[in-house]
Amino acid sequence: MRVLAIGAHPDDLEILCGGTLAKFAKRGDEVVMVHLCSGNMGGREIEPDKLAEIRDKEAKKAGDIIGAEVLGPIADDLDLYPTKDMRIKVVDIIRYAKPDIIITHSPNDYMPDHTITSQLVFEASFTATLPLYKTGQPTHEPIVPIFYMDTLAGIGFEPTDYVDITDFFQMKKEMLLCHESQYKWLSGHHQADPINLIETMAKFRGLQCGVLYAEAFQTAQLWGRLRAERLLP
Ligand SMILES: [Zn+2]
Repeated sequence: MRVLAIGAHPDDLEILCGGTLAKFAKRGDEVVMVHLCSGNMGGREIEPDKLAEIRDKEAKKAGDIIGAEVLGPIADDLDLYPTKDMRIKVVDIIRYAKPDIIITHSPNDYMPDHTITSQLVFEASFTATLPLYKTGQPTHEPIVPIFYMDTLAGIGFEPTDYVDITDFFQMKKEMLLCHESQYKWLSGHHQADPINLIETMAKFRGLQCGVLYAEAFQTAQLWGRLRAERLLP
């Protein structure tokens, strides 16, 4: 299976679905990880351009751990808008990756890059199916199931699906630890130590479904997006 995970910033996928991506990869699925924003505002001391470079490298290092291809960005932080230009860029990412499933942010997450990523991915994933909508990449005709990943700290998110990541939590942690530039920033500005955050979330979601560590998702309950078989690992 081909799995396309599209997050806003480098580190979002690791925080919200890293264990699931590791589990997909382990069972032989191809995983493509995308950050639509450069991450250039995720700090205090380092200049934005330099920070974007650092964060791109960190994302690639994290992807390497599970053998995922890492793509992005298409915009700087807070410069992502649901415009036609941006939608075409996301269409081309989807057409390039040819996914069987797409994972992205919940439409209800905590900041605009996350909610706009969710909107762009939803819109682009339909647009990508249309043969007459010409872009740089050939059409990917299937309407692809979308799984929304948990919100930050799980706020306002009622899961429809869980993935047991007990055997993959260590790998998720290693992936997140690749984002070295973010520990101090997240612990300070977001008042959330990143490792504590993912452990608390994974344990809480695990408690809900009877395993030690889990990640939670919502299926996009829309025509064309549903399948009879379970797609998550
Ligand atoms: Zn983010």
